[in-house]
Amino acid sequence: MMNMQELDKPRCHCAVFGVFGDAAAAQLTYYGLLAQQHRGQEGSGIVTSEFDKATGRYRFHSHKDFGLVDDVYQDRNLLTDVLKGSLAIGHNRYSTAGSADNEANIQPLTVHYKSGNIAIAHNGNLTNFRQLRRTLEEDGTIFQTTSDTEIILHLIARSKKSVQIDQIREALAQVEGAFSLVLLTDDTLIAARDHHGFRPLALGRKGNTFFVASETVAFDIIDAEYVRDVAPGEMVIIDKKVHETGTITSLRIDDRQATPHHCIFEYIYFSRPDSQIFGHSVDKVRRKLGKNLAQSNPVVAKDPSDKVIVINVPDSSNTATMGYVQQANKLGRNARLEIGLIRSHYIGRTFIQPRQEVRTNKVKTKFNPVKGVLKDKVVVIVDDSIVRGTTSQQLVQLVRQAGPKEVHFRVSSPPIMYPCYYGMDFPTPNELIANRCGGEIRKIAEELGVNSLGYLTVEEMLASAPQEKGENYCTACFSGRYPSAIDTNQKKDENEA
Ligand code: SF4
Repeated sequence: MMNMQELDKPRCHCAVFGVFGDAAAAQLTYYGLLAQQHRGQEGSGIVTSEFDKATGRYRFHSHKDFGLVDDVYQDRNLLTDVLKGSLAIGHNRYSTAGSADNEANIQPLTVHYKSGNIAIAHNGNLTNFRQLRRTLEEDGTIFQTTSDTEIILHLIARSKKSVQIDQIREALAQVEGAFSLVLLTDDTLIAARDHHGFRPLALGRKGNTFFVASETVAFDIIDAEYVRDVAPGEMVIIDKKVHETGTITSLRIDDRQATPHHCIFEYIYFSRPDSQIFGHSVDKVRRKLGKNLAQSNPVVAKDPSDKVIVINVPDSSNTATMGYVQQANKLGRNARLEIGLIRSHYIGRTFIQPRQEVRTNKVKTKFNPVKGVLKDKVVVIVDDSIVRGTTSQQLVQLVRQAGPKEVHFRVSSPPIMYPCYYGMDFPTPNELIANRCGGEIRKIAEELGVNSLGYLTVEEMLASAPQEKGENYCTACFSGRYPSAIDTNQKKDENEA
């Protein structure tokens, strides 16, 4: 069985969400997670904190399970009668570090220790977790999960500092790699981001209620406004002072200088186009990627009487395709946008391998070509990325069956050559078509069976992303330039898990 959610696309670690100061915190978290379902479909969890007047103590409530958000909280009474309290954090999971079928790995992870309750939800991947885990285990720590996130809880619990915020700071100063986190203590919501700022993390507000989310679409659904991003290396503390002073507390995790390396893949594919990521509109950047692709990789029909039509691969390349067509026409190429592939929205999450005699390809269950649109045309397929190449190959076959004159393929990112250590799940390098073909575009084009193939270069991709505020990006999966130390053994473990 294979996951049909997105065929042959990299998968991100997760989505996080947090609420401070609303009696309906769990319901708001449910909506925040629903809007961020694209960031993780394996499991979901919510933890709330409730002040129990009878005992004068705080109580944590938690619900987690495998499945989509709507399935996990199918019993809506959970949100009102079980997950009580005015503070909450939530998480949608897609795992890379930690086995996917281990229920204990579903976040938020929760512990009770000397300073009270604490829960954590994490987006990203810690690059020094193997080494930290070994040290902690040698010291007698017993782990409940195989997730890298649990390390942070142990480091907090072992801290000798007396103030909980100092314990958290000390723990975060020891971890490296990518982390966009929400933490919940009895009475405080905390958001923190690694000093490279690999993954996004945004702050929102509606009246006296404060929110944290991976993507701003989570604020739109609950009518909250996007305030700003949590800065790389920043820890934001939202507690009752916010209602007294109207301001949140901002601290540096440690004195390491922030060196932003935002994940460029968030703009290319991962985030929703209606989100603001790293302070900019994803839609706008994705259009620009498409425009620059048209500029550097035009398709000109050999016979001027042939019509060039440009089609998107729904839904992930919709925006880049619009940009491509807009720019192609600006350059006088006379390209026409067409809907040449129809996506079925009713396909389940899994694909059952057909028996040999049922000759169908996986892509066929998800897409169907519009024959009348494609027949006898010069067709340009625009996609946002190619990972293994198997899906692109099958898409090309599908389009060819509709009888076009030529099929050209254009990709609004560079060839993916290397693995990601910062929370995006790619297959092993030799499974990546570009790596297998040694980065030779001609060879990849032959494997895909297209008349021509064009990608953006790393420089063209970077020229499409905002630079005006001194932004800096991670491009490691394209360029091999990792902005921080990596542990290559970590990938081996993940692939064997
Ligand atoms: S390696 Fe690629 S996917 Fe991973 S953070 Fe860098 S740009 Fe993003």
